[in-house]
Amino acid sequence: MRSRSWVRTVALGAVLLGAAAGQAQEGKMSQGVKAREQIEERYRWRLEDLYPTQEAWEADFKAVETDLQALGKCQGRLGKSAKGLGGCLDLQFSLTKRFYRLSTYAQQLNDQDGAAVQGQELNDRAGKLGTRLAAETAWVEPELLAVPARKMAALRKARALGPYGHFLDNILRRRAHVLGKDEERVVARAGDMANLPYTAYNVLSTLNLPFPEFTTRAGEKVRLNQAQYTRLRTSPDRDERRRVFQAFFAALRSFRESYAGLISGAVSRDHFYTQVRGYRGDLESALDATNVPTAIYTNMLEQVRAGRPLLWRYLRLRTQLLGLDKLTYSDLYPSIVPSVEMPIPFDQARGTILEALAALGPEVKAILEEAFASRWIDVYPNAGKRSGAYMSGSGYDVHPYILLNYVDSFDAMSTAAHELGHAVHSYLANKAQPFHYSGYPTFTAEVASTANENLLRLFLTARETDPKRRLFLLGEYLESWRTTVFRQALFAEFELKIHELAAAGKPLTADLLDATYLELLKEYYGVAEGVVEIDPLYAIEWAYIPHFYYNFYMFQYTTSFIASVAIAERIFSGDAAARDGYLAMLRAGGSLYPVELLKLGGVDMTTAAPYQVAFKSLEKTLAEVEQLAAKK
Ligand SMILES: [Zn+2]
Repeated sequence: MRSRSWVRTVALGAVLLGAAAGQAQEGKMSQGVKAREQIEERYRWRLEDLYPTQEAWEADFKAVETDLQALGKCQGRLGKSAKGLGGCLDLQFSLTKRFYRLSTYAQQLNDQDGAAVQGQELNDRAGKLGTRLAAETAWVEPELLAVPARKMAALRKARALGPYGHFLDNILRRRAHVLGKDEERVVARAGDMANLPYTAYNVLSTLNLPFPEFTTRAGEKVRLNQAQYTRLRTSPDRDERRRVFQAFFAALRSFRESYAGLISGAVSRDHFYTQVRGYRGDLESALDATNVPTAIYTNMLEQVRAGRPLLWRYLRLRTQLLGLDKLTYSDLYPSIVPSVEMPIPFDQARGTILEALAALGPEVKAILEEAFASRWIDVYPNAGKRSGAYMSGSGYDVHPYILLNYVDSFDAMSTAAHELGHAVHSYLANKAQPFHYSGYPTFTAEVASTANENLLRLFLTARETDPKRRLFLLGEYLESWRTTVFRQALFAEFELKIHELAAAGKPLTADLLDATYLELLKEYYGVAEGVVEIDPLYAIEWAYIPHFYYNFYMFQYTTSFIASVAIAERIFSGDAAARDGYLAMLRAGGSLYPVELLKLGGVDMTTAAPYQVAFKSLEKTLAEVEQLAAKK
């Protein structure tokens, strides 16, 4: 999934929650675009690689339904013998693999044209089959955990379980936090209430919040909802920007007690699971789901805080380039460089991407050429096609697919490079790993995609001689540092702080949330250093961010970005060992824990090293933009 900065974070949230948040943003395109049949075939993905005909899909669907019944025979037998356990896991994963292929086909058929009845129907049926598969395998994990530790240790020595070592370890490591059967049933029941804070937040923010009417400087009257807010806050007119901020934040402020109640509910929910599962703190409890040590989180906060002077340098540069005497919080979004027309047709983008990613070596080059030549990519928008962009690597035995909505722009080229990063990751992992280790964690997923974006940027800036275009490329990079590194770190720190405050018994009132948020804004944006002025009204921004309901998710935007910059810088400089390590990380898929995966990729996120490499890249860019600005 990909889109720029803020929108990107929403899209990623949707991956996590699998629902509401992002999908609300994914409308269906309909007006002014071609019908699907009018798009040249070579720009449409070839779904026949998954199933040559719908009959073939139907036959496989039936077969999976039938074979599902065999799973029932495994129940109660997992702890009996290594051979039996190995066989049952084989069966479970082979069914899951086949189900993925069925659902990928149905999903993509539906995504390419949502108006086509056939896609809707298949997608619906695949969804129901998925629910059945989940229900039929729900007992596996609890049954594994119920096998006495000694017995399990003996079983695991057998060769039949060799391929499942890490898989079993990943379940059994949580043994200390699993409760008795009856208690687990109560915890599961409580899950029904767990989504309430976010659901209510979403309804309040999208439906019930009385968005103010706003008159643009062009005299256009608009309802200032989230979409209009994100559009108008980039206005080149300072007074208009200020009015946008005042009006939008005032609307949020009028519901501040409701928002405080909801966020407090979300924090209580997290704390409930921390306590019943016996974790020491909410952060530890959340990160244990993917076995990420809390040191990764706290190290990130420490490193980014130490790097704040670079943010301040960027903001001073922004003040200068916008021709302002003093930067205020509503001056953060307008572009610092005049927009540059850079129409890039897809065929040209393909050539540029292949050249830019040549640094990744011949194997990746061959994969990319195959992706372009063998119709893995659905390139252009068409009537009824899902908006946005994504990569699906779920067709394990087939090849990855990419959905784009390509328009001839720099941004679209960058998106294509991003999704191709995911595709190469999936291709290599699918090829090197058994199915059950082919899926990789979020912690590394966005490293592969942003590494590609960074390689593309490095390649383009190295040969761009036109000063305006250079400034555009460098300016984009600086802004992604602010939004993906510093802003996300601020959010991550706020999230940690409010969980700690609540755990210490402090009620999360609107006043306390405002004060906590404002303090962080001041610290991150350098108010004491005279960098930015912040109107206390904007302290309510915490109410605008849906991610505070996702239970410690946002830090990964920062860690992924830092890791990918560090990796791309080394690879671009021709460091062959860095490239080989990175490819080894991609090939490893999900066969190791997140931190070990990144270590394989040459970045140890528990240390300062990757941050130092990344900050050096930021510093270099700042120095160049400062020079270009001085010449202006
Ligand atoms: Zn992505």
